[in-house]
Amino acid sequence: MLLISLTECVFLFQQRNLEGYVGFANLPNQVYRKSVKRGFEFTLMVVGESGLGKSTLINSLFLTDLYSKDYPGPSHRIKKTVQVSFFSFFWQPVINYIDSKCEDFLNAESRVNRRSMPDNRVHCCLYFIAPSGHGLKPLDIEFMKRLHDKVNVIPLIAKADTLTPEECHLFKKQIMKEIQEHKIKIYEFPDVDEDEDNKLVRKIKEKMPLAVVGSNVVIEVNGKKVRGRQYPWGVAEVENGEHCDFTVLRNMLIRTHMQDLKDVTNNVHYENYRSKKLAAVTCNGVDTSKTKGQLTKSPLAQMEEERREHVMKMKKMEAEMEQVFEMKVKEKKQKLKDSEAELERRHEQMKRNLEAQYKELEEKRRVFEEEKANWEAQQRILEQQKLDASK
Ligand code: GDP
Repeated sequence: MLLISLTECVFLFQQRNLEGYVGFANLPNQVYRKSVKRGFEFTLMVVGESGLGKSTLINSLFLTDLYSKDYPGPSHRIKKTVQVSFFSFFWQPVINYIDSKCEDFLNAESRVNRRSMPDNRVHCCLYFIAPSGHGLKPLDIEFMKRLHDKVNVIPLIAKADTLTPEECHLFKKQIMKEIQEHKIKIYEFPDVDEDEDNKLVRKIKEKMPLAVVGSNVVIEVNGKKVRGRQYPWGVAEVENGEHCDFTVLRNMLIRTHMQDLKDVTNNVHYENYRSKKLAAVTCNGVDTSKTKGQLTKSPLAQMEEERREHVMKMKKMEAEMEQVFEMKVKEKKQKLKDSEAELERRHEQMKRNLEAQYKELEEKRRVFEEEKANWEAQQRILEQQKLDASK
């Protein structure tokens, strides 16, 4: 329970009809024009313990509470195009939320009309790490492991202004070491063809995990208005690259890597989800995921269930036919057995008759032989008497 109450996350923004350079700087012109015309959706999730500065960072990233008249910085163009919505969740619901958005997309994909498919899948998750200087907590490891196959995870060191540059550097090294040791797959920046872009990507990679500072206030530094945090010894400026990696994060999120985050979400994480789902459907025929507390069946699951029912019917018919066949074979075998027994019985009978006849003949022959021997003996006596009389 402690784990659950510690973890909180914030979801935000769906972006439409974007103008200017923000977001799709890396897209080819044709794709860029299409995206600007149609608009696009990008959902960012922010996860981390309560009080780590998530809301403040989001405000800093998307100027959600500061309006441009107070803060006419370069990002003011975003204000007319970004919609930010916040939701707070605890541990398991975060994972359920990601899954349910994939489920929605899968259902939308399976519909006949796939022209206007809302894409509310989570494209990126900023994971806030407490600036303890001691490495990751078991909860961080466990949670990132649960998330890394479902969403692009970007680890951030929260409240980086509470660490000295040296501490921050060592802390980053320690975190990356632990991330590798625990085989946590954080978002991988893609290799690009252009040398310049490659340099940029390498620079971002070297800075991982990005150390960020957020602030809701504007402070005047050397006559310039900046977002920052005022300390007795100076100002920690949010958008100053010397102070933290906030601008690196903002640039990569909404300028250089937004499309890649969407692509990886679609091609890797969603594909993972989809194949697992289809595999489950093939095994069980029923989609067992719960959405809004109800057991739902996707059209694909329904089709699969119908197919399974048909297969079951065929199997049942096959089993019945096999049963009938077996019965007939049994009957035939029994008939054959019966006639074999009958034949045997008749054969025995005939054998016994013949033996009796044989015995009878033998007896007759013996009697005959005896009669013959008697007659011959009598003949011999008569012959002798004849001879004696003639003498
Ligand atoms: P959440 O609960 O994660 O959304 O945190 P909040 O954004 O509400 O911030 C909690 C507290 O931390 C607030 O008092 C903020 O002013 C403060 N805070 C936010 N970001 C920073 C930061 O980068 N550095 C420091 N030192 N404090 C911060």
